[in-house]
Amino acid sequence: MTRERDQDAAIEILRKVLTLEARKGFQDTAVGGGIERLLAGFASRLDGKAQPLSRLFAGYSRLPVEQRRERVVRAQRFLDGRLSAKQLTPEPPPATASKPSAPPTAASRPAPRRRVSRMTLESLDDPVTVLPGVGEGRRKQLEALEVRTIRDLIYLLPRRHKDYSAVQPIASILFQRECTIRGRVTDVQEARTQSGKRYVLVEIADDTGRVKASWFNPYIARQLPIGAQVAISGKVEQQRGTLLFRGPEWELLEAETLNTGRLVPVYPLTRGLYQKQVRQLTHAALDAARPLLDDPLTQPIRERHQLPPLGEALEAIHYPASEAELARARARLAFDEFLVLQLGLVRRKLDWQQTAGHAFPPAPEALADFLDLLPFELTGAQRRALEEIQADMAVPKPMSRLLQGDVGSGKTVVAAAAALVAIADGCQAAILAPTELLAEQHARSLSKLFGLLPEERRPALALLTGSTPAAERRAIDEGLQAGTLNLLIGTHAILEERVVFQRLGLAVIDEQHRFGVGQRHALRSKGYNPDVLVMTATPIPRSLALVIHGDLDVSVIDELPPGRQAIETYRVEGGQRRRVYDFLRREIAAGHQAFVIYPLVEESEQIDARAATAEYERLSREVFPDLRLGLLHGRLRPAEKDAAMRAFRDGALDILVSTSVVEVGIDVPNATIMLIEGADRFGLSQLHQFRGRVGRGADKSYCLLLSDEASAEGTRRLEALATTQDGFRLAEVDLELRGPGEFFGTRQSGLPDLQLATLGDLATLQHARDEAHTLLTFDPDLSQPEHKPLAQQVERFWAKGAGDLS
Ligand code: ADP
Ligand code: MG
Repeated sequence: MTRERDQDAAIEILRKVLTLEARKGFQDTAVGGGIERLLAGFASRLDGKAQPLSRLFAGYSRLPVEQRRERVVRAQRFLDGRLSAKQLTPEPPPATASKPSAPPTAASRPAPRRRVSRMTLESLDDPVTVLPGVGEGRRKQLEALEVRTIRDLIYLLPRRHKDYSAVQPIASILFQRECTIRGRVTDVQEARTQSGKRYVLVEIADDTGRVKASWFNPYIARQLPIGAQVAISGKVEQQRGTLLFRGPEWELLEAETLNTGRLVPVYPLTRGLYQKQVRQLTHAALDAARPLLDDPLTQPIRERHQLPPLGEALEAIHYPASEAELARARARLAFDEFLVLQLGLVRRKLDWQQTAGHAFPPAPEALADFLDLLPFELTGAQRRALEEIQADMAVPKPMSRLLQGDVGSGKTVVAAAAALVAIADGCQAAILAPTELLAEQHARSLSKLFGLLPEERRPALALLTGSTPAAERRAIDEGLQAGTLNLLIGTHAILEERVVFQRLGLAVIDEQHRFGVGQRHALRSKGYNPDVLVMTATPIPRSLALVIHGDLDVSVIDELPPGRQAIETYRVEGGQRRRVYDFLRREIAAGHQAFVIYPLVEESEQIDARAATAEYERLSREVFPDLRLGLLHGRLRPAEKDAAMRAFRDGALDILVSTSVVEVGIDVPNATIMLIEGADRFGLSQLHQFRGRVGRGADKSYCLLLSDEASAEGTRRLEALATTQDGFRLAEVDLELRGPGEFFGTRQSGLPDLQLATLGDLATLQHARDEAHTLLTFDPDLSQPEHKPLAQQVERFWAKGAGDLS
């Protein structure tokens, strides 16, 4: 044999081996001992081709299948003379370069899978485009998911995982079940449906049997060549009596599987972006990010709370080895969220409290007088709340306390008592209400309460709103500056620059939904650090209060004054509307008034307003033409709203038709009926708020919940409402039913979004809060080197929030 013929023969053998190797799925089983050994034996016969080929196949058996495939393809092309020896040895990230332009056989085509494990990152804030294969198009798609950086990618949390972890023998798969199989591709066909749509039908076999899988994506035929080892995950369906996977998840077998045979992450997607691609990206990002991850939780913190390190948790939140690992990862990342949230809130509170505040002596005399003169005894809950407030006021730090209490639980008396404590020490107090009407209402009830005191001890109070006449304003300004005016009640007009107190000691802010942090900020920028008491009649479960008002201490009045009549609450079906209207008529004939709440039609004030308007017109014309009806909705100007409410309050209207804007605490003792249309559409807490608008006088009151076809959940809500009057209990039920996200959009509260932390997880929240306190006690600005990653995390998290939070 000539040397040349010998070389040709060797090449021929090698070709056959490579073809066989491809057919066998690149398992290095084409020749005994493996390709690397074969090449070593052929070294002398292959002559000049020996060296480059040996380099190409170095360590072949230890490579991931994908890379083996690629080596084989290159070798084939080299032997065909389409690649030079120089081009043969693959560059480190082989990437797309290996995609052949006109590959010889289906079996030798590489899948366009990119590996980036050797990529180096500068920082986690590098843009996603540093990842191989992420160009402008992909960048845009990711941006739609708010993913811009590598960090965003590793924190792009799966919405859920599909459990493809159990690999089954093909013979054991069952119709309609989700399962994973592994096998070899034994047949690939392209076909058309009756309507002419092209699809690919692939047959996969393992030792126990065969099964087919079909995809409409013709590209699959090129990615799943005969002989490829593949894993398939999906639901088993049927076609003409044989089992079939339709468009299952699939993956070529290699060391790391992302899409099959495991718990597989399911991500949020945007148009043109597929699960598989996102998985590849998160996987690549995790790989690249690993060396740069700085755990915000130090070892001691992790140990205290038994949490895994950040790297492990991130890996597992995407690609968990088990459900248990996933749960651990979730717990860890939820803790992170809670902690950075609490660190921000607690920090804010400490900042507020670090400024010097006034220390009010307890003022036992002024208080005792007042409490003695009240026509009733404080409830236990009122007393407790007042004691907590007094304790705060007694220390020389500004108070920041939230007073939560159901409608009618008697918060006003408590606020009045607190104001007396401040006034007794020569300070002034202010009460801020969200609307003129409510400010007026407060002014009236406080005048009445303080009217009980002997004249010489009666605080001087004034009402200041946008419509206070100029002359009166001037008198108020003078009184405030001279210190002769003790208590100012009003709207945000109080916060205007020209309003100057001589010595503001206490600010009571009613209804924290509209007031709160911002107002505190405004007061401070006016140079005051008064004690702040925020009052709300929207009961929030304690867990939620800690999240949303983590910068406030919380007092709760969870007890109604004795002898309060329950508001009779009934569910009524649409068919009984006539009888309901008759009932309204009778109550009105007896001198009472009624609210009719019209439901949310859409999440749009405009549409709600139109719907309520139409209902108002129908009721006015067809049902109650002889009665006086008013209309209230969110599209009215504030003055118009006030006018409608005022007319109703003063008895000039019999029925007030309204959208949900009526919610905020107005007192109309003569109103005895709250009729709520489409009641199942409202949240429980909101329904409870509506109900609280009646039952404020001596007369028996009713809440009628109209709904035509309530969902199961809607029905449960209405039943809960009909059976309990306790706002806190209802808030808990609401939280259970609706889940934390919807219960109280954190966006609305000006807090950054929480991704993982579930508000129901009270224990974790409490731990995070304690940890935040501990951390800030020992390292107030988190400036110690080991807390740097945590400090950065806090900064990033809060930067995403609504901003105005300091
Ligand atoms: P809130 O502001 O919490 O909705 P209010 O302070 O307006 O409740 O109180 C509702 C009504 O209950 C008022 O008429 C008030 O005088 C009365 N009230 C408050 N505390 C008590 C009490 N301990 N016993 C009896 N009546 C009370
Ligand atoms: Mg009130």
